[in-house]
Amino acid sequence: MSEKIQAIRGMHDILPDHAPRWQHVESVLRRVMGAYGYQEIRLPVVEKTELFKRSIGEVTDIVEKEMYTFADRNGDSLTLRPEGTAGCLRACLEHGLLHNQTQRLWYLGQMFRHERPQKGRYRQFHQLGVEAYGMAGPDIDAELILLCRRLWRELGIADKLELQINSLGTTAERLAYRAKLVAYFRMHVEALDEDSRRRLETNPLRILDSKNPALKPIIAGAPLLTDELDTSSREHFDSLRRQLDAAGVAYVVNPRLVRGLDYYSRTVFEWLTESLGAQGTVCAGGRYDGLIEQLGGKDSTAVGFALGMERLIDLLDDPGRFDRAALPQAYLIAVGELAEARAPLLAERLRDTLPGLRLQLNCGGGSFKSQFKRADRSGAEVALILGDDEARDQTLGVKSLRREEGQQTLSENEAIAFLHSLI
Ligand code: ATP
Ligand code: MG
Repeated sequence: MSEKIQAIRGMHDILPDHAPRWQHVESVLRRVMGAYGYQEIRLPVVEKTELFKRSIGEVTDIVEKEMYTFADRNGDSLTLRPEGTAGCLRACLEHGLLHNQTQRLWYLGQMFRHERPQKGRYRQFHQLGVEAYGMAGPDIDAELILLCRRLWRELGIADKLELQINSLGTTAERLAYRAKLVAYFRMHVEALDEDSRRRLETNPLRILDSKNPALKPIIAGAPLLTDELDTSSREHFDSLRRQLDAAGVAYVVNPRLVRGLDYYSRTVFEWLTESLGAQGTVCAGGRYDGLIEQLGGKDSTAVGFALGMERLIDLLDDPGRFDRAALPQAYLIAVGELAEARAPLLAERLRDTLPGLRLQLNCGGGSFKSQFKRADRSGAEVALILGDDEARDQTLGVKSLRREEGQQTLSENEAIAFLHSLI
């Protein structure tokens, strides 16, 4: 026998016994997106490498070491998308969706990053991305945060998530701040780790985002970007805070919150949890006004967030209840020539009469005993039993697979009424 081929490390199958919990979350988020007037956009999984280099930034973790990049047959450098913002913006620019108009969009799909696999961190994972274009004010920033809150509430996980917000100011403010930050870290260079020393030259703001606990005290003493904000950035942030206060959204202002990607400006936010160990950021986003121009569009504004679906699903209480609720309700057994001929027709009739009924029909024959075993394994609530006698009398045997109850014989109409009660 030849050796079995296995999946790639960090890239997981979602097997049928867990797919329903995904479907549940997906249906909730589709509903919530609709409730705020956001439209779905479906994007390719592969883009030109250049797109990510130009948007995410050459000196970020993603571009430096996490991208799946390969040469296409004609030599073009292509990359499996590590995130969705760049592709979404590329598509909107390409199809003229940003010209004199606003857009509220969402997408859902696989992202790919070559990271060290661990709980909550995979090489293929799924994100919900939400993007709003052409709206410069803090009202749309607030809307995105409210939309998140509604999602958490509908999923029953609101009490597990904390909102942190910060303002990164404009590019000019960040440059001024960057100079101060570099000066500060230079004074403490001997205490920095290797990664941070490298970042000191390339992307010093990212040092603030370091996950190395040894750096905590030095980071805590660093100057604050908040002190560099000019009046208009400050007003934007204050207005956002007032809107969140008015809507009763609890948040923490975290002046050290920076995002891993280069393109953010002004509002940034993260939803964090204590329930998932080290991988505590479930959802992260912010404003990225400069990116549209950077990708060849006209000056416009953008704000969005991305949510990690695996981490979100890990936060659900008893996700197994969604998986169980998706099992078939009934399994139709047919033994005998007449019964076997009649069973598929009966199954169709039941499905016609009872939309929403999940009915599995035994296929491939078998003895009563072996069919009954399959019925049990299907997870169904009841077995419907059709023998030649029942087929002739237009009746149906019904036996609970989960409770100690005897088999009943019901007329077809009685069986329909009974099955209706299972839906
Ligand atoms: P982290 O700090 O955990 O590496 P990030 O800043 O790289 O996250 P973003 O690029 O902002 O993450 O992506 C948004 C969300 O996508 C994250 O908050 C997380 O929930 C999820 N996510 C990111 N990378 C992964 C991954 N490798 N595996 C699973 N989920 C991920
Ligand atoms: Mg990361």
